Amino acid sequence: MKNHGLNRRRFIRNASAGIIGAGILGAKAPSAEAREPEEEFPKITSYRTLGRTNFRVSDIATGYPFSESTLRASLGCGVNLIETSEMYGRGNNETLVGNVIRDHEREKLFIVTKLAYSVKEYESVQDIIDRANASLKRLQTDYVDCFMLHGAENSERVRNKYYHKAVDQLKKEGKIRYTGVSCHGHSWWDNPEETFEQVLMTAVEDGRFDILMLPYNFFEPEMGERVLNACQENNIGTMTMKSIPILIYELFSEMKQKAEEEGGELSERYKIGYEKYKLQNEQAEAFFARYGISGAEKMKDGAIQFILSNKNVNTICTLLQNFEGIKKYIRLSGTKLEPQTNEMLGLFKSNYSRLHCRIGCNICEALCPHHLPVNTILRYNYYFQAKKQEKLAIQSYSELPGKKADVCINCEGFCEKACPHGVLVRPLLAAAHINLSFETPNFA
Ligand code: SF4
Ligand code: SF4
Repeated sequence: MKNHGLNRRRFIRNASAGIIGAGILGAKAPSAEAREPEEEFPKITSYRTLGRTNFRVSDIATGYPFSESTLRASLGCGVNLIETSEMYGRGNNETLVGNVIRDHEREKLFIVTKLAYSVKEYESVQDIIDRANASLKRLQTDYVDCFMLHGAENSERVRNKYYHKAVDQLKKEGKIRYTGVSCHGHSWWDNPEETFEQVLMTAVEDGRFDILMLPYNFFEPEMGERVLNACQENNIGTMTMKSIPILIYELFSEMKQKAEEEGGELSERYKIGYEKYKLQNEQAEAFFARYGISGAEKMKDGAIQFILSNKNVNTICTLLQNFEGIKKYIRLSGTKLEPQTNEMLGLFKSNYSRLHCRIGCNICEALCPHHLPVNTILRYNYYFQAKKQEKLAIQSYSELPGKKADVCINCEGFCEKACPHGVLVRPLLAAAHINLSFETPNFA
């Protein structure tokens, strides 16, 4: 399974699927008749060295590829890092990636797949080796560039002896090249003492990891910046995620609209904190009035450019879900944050601060009498609402142990009182529960 030529059938499929800029990553160039108009698609203009791997990766990467056609188009634009996991689509996402990369020169791509504790505990060295082999089979390749621990929730998992022994063996067999770890922070039931910064600093100090994947965005840059600096000092590659912490303002507007469409109003049950939210939202809407309807789009660009402006970030994993998204994000490759856009991000942050739960923060959870993993639930809702990964979000929420956020309805809101950012936790959790459980609010 080494380099795969592009046979005629695949060539036609690529052309009709919109592969563009062929040749950049080793895919054979389509004929003039079959070629998509290249000028419509921008190209990656900046490649950065991924830490000690010395691989030059595109500054915009594709995480959790959405479809074969969008992945082909992304590669055609010059994207060369693909991030997937045994967990995504229960392995189907690796199969999707495999169907595309077999048409490309393998050594020109950097493939990251991840081993998820939430799929199955790491039971033994052999268990991990078996799972790595299953990933390779789905990916239709002889090796992955990085075999990453997926969502390590505590330092213990970072040091997992089965993982490290297994990767030593897999490296000897040439099946993996580098190790890595991703982290969003913990779930409270595991270890409420550790932030994502602490978990990832453990990985840096451990010394065995080549690449770290972490949340980093303009809303909550501090912890991420410290981790990125430590990676730079230790020549560890960096991949960032959770880049665009916006769109949450749409959440309550949709709830309200739904109630109006159904000819009623929000019931007492769902009025928890709603008035507070309304006031916050009205103030925040002034932001969009000032910048006009282009405000949200400009801000999404600015959110990416904020990350690109940090030289310690090697690549940003974005969701390149459709052709418009591909054009939008690839166009940002190699650009920097302008002062005016930076000012806009600052204003957005101050206006929407109370509607945004900071990823990796878990301060309020210890005070919840029902032990709800507030941060994790609101992250799943971010997947649902902002990233449109509804299936993943609903599945992840349903698999959470313990009580669900419907218990917030009759709670005094100890979490709100504890949140140093004044986040309106109860209405956010209520809305998250509606999204993630399909529960319909009673508007009667
Ligand atoms: S609601 Fe506030 S305290 Fe709780 S996790 Fe989010 S940011 Fe942290
Ligand atoms: S509202 Fe109450 S039940 Fe819900 S997370 Fe906050 S403290 Fe826990």
